Amino acid sequence: MKLVIVRYGEIGLKGRNKKYFELALERNIRNQLPGVKTRTTGGRVYVETGEYPLEDVKKTLERTFGIQNFSMGTMVGFDVEEILSAALEVSEVEVSKGRKSFKVETKRANKKFPVRSLELSAFLGEKILEKFPELHVDVHNPEFVVGVEVRNRGTLLFSSKLAGPGGIPVGVSGKGLLLLSGGIDSPVAGWYSLKRGLDVHGIHFASPPYTGEKALEKVIDLARLLSMYNGGREFKLYNVGFTKAQLTVHRRVPEKFSLIIQRRTMMRIATEIADKLGYKVLITGENVGQVASQTIENMYAITEATNKLVLRPLTGFDKIETIDVARRIGSFEISTRPYEDCCTVFVPKEPATKARIKDILRTESGIDFDTLVNEAVQLTKVYTIKHGQVIGVEAFKVAE
Ligand code: ATP
Ligand code: MG
Repeated sequence: MKLVIVRYGEIGLKGRNKKYFELALERNIRNQLPGVKTRTTGGRVYVETGEYPLEDVKKTLERTFGIQNFSMGTMVGFDVEEILSAALEVSEVEVSKGRKSFKVETKRANKKFPVRSLELSAFLGEKILEKFPELHVDVHNPEFVVGVEVRNRGTLLFSSKLAGPGGIPVGVSGKGLLLLSGGIDSPVAGWYSLKRGLDVHGIHFASPPYTGEKALEKVIDLARLLSMYNGGREFKLYNVGFTKAQLTVHRRVPEKFSLIIQRRTMMRIATEIADKLGYKVLITGENVGQVASQTIENMYAITEATNKLVLRPLTGFDKIETIDVARRIGSFEISTRPYEDCCTVFVPKEPATKARIKDILRTESGIDFDTLVNEAVQLTKVYTIKHGQVIGVEAFKVAE
């Protein structure tokens, strides 16, 4: 029987909440691989993968937050010949990858099993060497380990550990709304929020006809990518019709403040949608000191427009670090396609870098933001995305 051993990292530290985290991880695995059986015991999740191709299982677990590492394995009985043939199978996979050195590591939890750990390791090692003469044993620094665990239910054999993405299971931290531009930073910020257990959905502000179909397509592609990391949930992307609000701001406020007030307008709209639909927190790709809108003063002025907690996972990242992650998760190629951003279209030549909130509030007085926000929300389209596919598009509505 094919069995994957999933080891979690941080969940192990969760004390009384551990069970809750474990169940969430099991559920996220089953969501993505319907039909598999899962069981948590002794600090590991065992996944019976049935007929699933191992490559699919591997790809899925590599993207499942909460997993520190995992090993592909097989569960057999207590017959030594059976154990041997499973050990040879495990070795064959590693040999086919060009690995040259190995060791066998046996643990015997089931003391009724008559052969001792060291003896079993030695026996299996010898047989493996016979079958694959190109291999040699290296007990200190082997290229692969044949793990053998003699348990009460049977004998488990598994090969080297494959890395999971770490973090904690998506969903345990509640729902978060990511301000998703088409840029490099915000998808990475979304990825790190998923990693901290937030069930992240996206909101994008588009200003047609100043921004085109291609820009939207890009954001949808980024959302599709993020939906591959959310434990098999539905990812909602709210595409807000921002043109009127943006034009109004552009016309009504001095150019040096337009960038900040435009961002404040985004914050207000995101807050409205978050409150209506139960998102606990907003997330942005902001960083400190990267661009004009990201001085501490301006970030404060922007955030002052919302009463929600705003997470900025990239504070502390250099751009180069962000780009590294973007490449690794696959968002970089999408983010660097050319497109028009609603903000670059209207970007002021000399934005204030140290806006004072007093001046901003005075400038905003007389603009009817409530109406602008409501109109923008009415013009919002909701894309439902699951496992990388758009499965529905509808007008925004609040569930009864
Ligand atoms: P990014 O690379 O994510 O676009 P940036 O370095 O361009 O970020 P800004 O332009 O200051 O920085 O944007 C800061 C954050 O504001 C973005 O990371 C994103 O969270 C949000 N944001 C900006 N423009 C939009 C938009 N059109 N729709 C949704 N969110 C946006
Ligand atoms: Mg940007």
